[in-house]
Amino acid sequence: MDKHMILYRGSLKSCNYHCSYCPFSKHPMSERELDRDQMQWCSFVKRLLKKVKALHIGALMVVPYGEAMIHHWYWEGLAQLSAFAEIDAVGIQTNLSFSVSEFLSSYEKAGGVPEKLRLWATFHPEMTTVSEFCAKCRQLREQDIQLCAGSVGVPENLHLLQELKQELNGIYLWVNKMDGLRLSYTQKEREAFEEIDPYFARELMRVPANVSMCRGRLFVEADGGLRSCNIGSTLKENWETLDDFPIPECSRKQCSCYLAYGGRGDFMNQVLFGPYPLFRIPRCPRAVFLDIEGTLFSSKDNCGESHTVEVSSNIMGELEILAKQKVYLLFATTMPYREAMQRCRKIRHLFAGGIFAGGAHIVWGQEREYYYELQDSWLTDLAALKKELRFRILTYRDCGKLYKVTLIRSTHSPWTQQETAAIMSHISDAKSLRCYIEENCLQIVSADANKARGVETLCRWMDISPKDAVAVGDSKEDEEMMELCNS
Ligand code: SF4
Repeated sequence: MDKHMILYRGSLKSCNYHCSYCPFSKHPMSERELDRDQMQWCSFVKRLLKKVKALHIGALMVVPYGEAMIHHWYWEGLAQLSAFAEIDAVGIQTNLSFSVSEFLSSYEKAGGVPEKLRLWATFHPEMTTVSEFCAKCRQLREQDIQLCAGSVGVPENLHLLQELKQELNGIYLWVNKMDGLRLSYTQKEREAFEEIDPYFARELMRVPANVSMCRGRLFVEADGGLRSCNIGSTLKENWETLDDFPIPECSRKQCSCYLAYGGRGDFMNQVLFGPYPLFRIPRCPRAVFLDIEGTLFSSKDNCGESHTVEVSSNIMGELEILAKQKVYLLFATTMPYREAMQRCRKIRHLFAGGIFAGGAHIVWGQEREYYYELQDSWLTDLAALKKELRFRILTYRDCGKLYKVTLIRSTHSPWTQQETAAIMSHISDAKSLRCYIEENCLQIVSADANKARGVETLCRWMDISPKDAVAVGDSKEDEEMMELCNS
C-alpha cells in the first residue's frame, strides 16, 4: 500500500515580502496571533507523530498563506518530523528569503534529516532578483537538498523567467497559470512557457473533479478542520480525533490548481513526480512502461475481441509531454502485439515498443524483437480436458513461432485456481510453462516470460538501468516489474 501525504496550512497569514498582487503582504500579524500559529503547529506536529503509523503517513508538506520559513518553530517542527523513521519526506512552500546556512544548521541541530527535506521555492520578481534567488537555490543544491523553483506565468515576465531557467542550471522551474485574472495565453506565449516548464501544458488542462482519485490524501487546517485537498469541501471529521482516513468528499467541478490535481491518485502524477508528487520535484524517468487495460484504459474488454479504445485527453496530453521530452514510452501488456496495436491505434505512434503477451514477445522499434517460444507437443495433452472444462484453444504464432496459448471459454465462466492446477497436471512439460488467469481466459506462455524480464531486456537494449525507468500497472502480473523499476 502506498503511503499517504498530508498538507498542512496553519493560521499564518503574514509575509516578510510585500508583492503588490498578494493579500498576505498587507496583513501584519500581532505577537498574539503568531503565538497562536506556533501553538497550533506544535500541536499538529505532536499529533502527527502519534498518528503516522496508524494512518500510514509517509510525507508532509506545509503550504502556508504567508511565509513560514522566517519562524523558527517551522524549522524545528520539520526537523522533528523528518527524524521519525516512518516519515519519508517533509517539505514546505517558501519564498526562500531565509538564511540557508542558518536554517540548515538549526535544522540539523534539531535532529533534522537533510535527505528528507523538500523545498518548493517561489520566485517573486518584485522582491528579489534572479541572481539572488538562484544563488540560494544553488546553495541548497550543493548541500544535496531537493527542491523545485517556480513562478506565475505572467507574459510580461517571460524574459525574466527564461533568465531564471538558465541560471537555475537544471533545477526544475515550474510555471503556474495566471489564476483568477481571466486572461488566456496566446499560442506563442504557451509555447514559450512550455519551453521553460515542460509540464506547463498540464496547468492549462481542464481536470474534471473526480473524488474517487482523492482517497488517502488530507489537507489539515490550523483548527483541525479537514479537506481532501486545499480546495475540496470541508469534511465532518477532525484532525484531533481522526483514527482512519475519511471518505473524500468534494463539490468542485474541476481540480483547478497543482495542489489539487497534482495530489490525485492518477497514475501519471507518480510517473512524472514520484511517490509524493505534491512536492513537485520531477522524477525525469528515461523510460516509462505502461500496462494497457486497467491503466491506460479503464475498461476491461474480453480477450479475443479487438477494437480501438480512447485514452482521456489528459493522459494523451501527458504522453505527448513525455514523448516530447524524449522519454521512451513502452507498452507492458498481456495482450499480443497486434491486438495491442489495434486497441492503442490512437497513441501507438508515441510508443517505442514494449512487452507483449505477458512478456512472451518483446519489441523495440523496427529493429529488434524477441519471442519466448513454446513447443507444440503439449497442446495435444489439452484435448482430453476440452469437453470437461468447456474451453477453446487459441494459439498465437508469428513466423511460425508459437509464443502464447489462450484457453478461452464463456464470459460467465471465469477460470479458478483449482481448474488451472488441473490443466497443468495434465500437461507433460508443465515446468516449461507459466499460466495466469484473465477472467474467462487462461493464458499460457513460457515459464521464462514475464513483464519484469521484459523490462530487463528492453532496458539492456536501450542501454539504461531499470532504476531509471518507471512502470505502472494494476494487476499481479505487473507487481514484479513495478518493484524492479520503482523501488
Ligand atoms: S477538487 Fe480536490 S478534492 Fe475535489 S476532486 Fe479535485 S483534487 Fe479531489
